[in-house]
Amino acid sequence: MIPARVIEAKRDGEALDPSVLGDFLDAYLRGEVPDYQMAAFLMAAYLKGLNDDETEVFVRCMLESGSTLDLSHLPGPRVDKHSTGGVGDKVSLVLAPLAAATGVFVPMISGRGLGHTGGTLDKLEAIPGFQTDLSLARFKRILEDVGCAIIGQTTEIAPLDRRLYALRDVTGTVSAVPLIAASIMSKKLAEGLDGLLLDVKVGSGAFIPEEERAAGLAEQMVTIGRGRGLATVALLTAMDRPLGRFVGVGLETAEAIHCLRGDGPPDLTELVLVQAAEMVRLGDHSVPIEAARGRAEAALASGAALEKFLRLVEAQGGDPRVVEEPEQLLTAPEKAEVRAPEGAVVLEVRPRPLGEGVIALGGGRLLMHQPIDPLVGFEIHVTPGDVVSRGETLGIVYARDPEGARVGAAALTSAVRLGQAGDPVVRRDLVSRRIDGGGV
Ligand code: URA
Repeated sequence: MIPARVIEAKRDGEALDPSVLGDFLDAYLRGEVPDYQMAAFLMAAYLKGLNDDETEVFVRCMLESGSTLDLSHLPGPRVDKHSTGGVGDKVSLVLAPLAAATGVFVPMISGRGLGHTGGTLDKLEAIPGFQTDLSLARFKRILEDVGCAIIGQTTEIAPLDRRLYALRDVTGTVSAVPLIAASIMSKKLAEGLDGLLLDVKVGSGAFIPEEERAAGLAEQMVTIGRGRGLATVALLTAMDRPLGRFVGVGLETAEAIHCLRGDGPPDLTELVLVQAAEMVRLGDHSVPIEAARGRAEAALASGAALEKFLRLVEAQGGDPRVVEEPEQLLTAPEKAEVRAPEGAVVLEVRPRPLGEGVIALGGGRLLMHQPIDPLVGFEIHVTPGDVVSRGETLGIVYARDPEGARVGAAALTSAVRLGQAGDPVVRRDLVSRRIDGGGV
């Protein structure tokens, strides 16, 4: 295998022999192919694509570069959920304890914020003391005791993906469907799961905004999972507007706790219940979907899911008082209201300006390992289709200081697009497609 020939072949759009591609990736892992050659290859792959066999080689090499969890001792099905990332997406914080309360074990390995989207780990770390960098041994113990545990990707799992991902992040090669599919699935296949639910976001706030490309990503991931014997279902869900009413790490954690208490916003609550029902069925294929939904609703209504979340927070070192009093996370020093300048219809609530606004407020990262401010963000009072009168509050900025409030107000103003009755409203169905590869 001559690295330059592999790069040239992909540049010219040739399909690579799987053994040659495998040798190329293994040589990179051993340090024999340098980053500059891999970067050139990734750009060629981004532009020319990877076929299914080539994608499968990526999955295999990334998976085999690290260890695989053995969770077969757990006395119940192991099912995880992965989201491709969105603005206001705090589903995992509610879903993991909720699914655990129905009897499913949820070994969740999550990420940090990426680009304009927030990450589950950052949201959990808004709870003082909450640790997400646990050893795999402690992760397993918490799973056994609580039924769910949430940690970051460890160095043991898919190290080749870690290296490739870091390179893609700085070479403009993240948003290639086969590379994303292989990256996500290699990590999920290492978790030792019985079932996997994929939440593939669609709309202007998603990494892959277009419905057909997002469906292609979902189908490819489902095919990879099923090809390796993992029951996998994907849902295409709306990211043409933020999910829920709050955007910003601590604000979203507070909203997730409210949802666990039964007073979450309707869209978040519905999406969580839909996903929990899918997870119940991925754990036990014989349960009809209505019964699975019933179990999820009961676990939320009875307080069992909230109780699980409390135990999860305690087990991972977090301050349980935040669960009793989530308003502690809504105490930014400076708040500013943004009001409608005139009577209007809300045509669109654009997620990207809000996600980017959170970063500008200090609640997201521009550089790796940068500390983030958990108290800043946005509370959005309107949703597409709402009719507002002059002076009505569109949303509230939570900021650290008056300058932040000003920057945040500009972001919120640009996010909420107003128009007149009869103008087209941007509002996708919350769940637009379910892709199961003919399985569950
Ligand atoms: N998330 C991942 O884990 N990998 C990607 O490539 C994109 C999003």
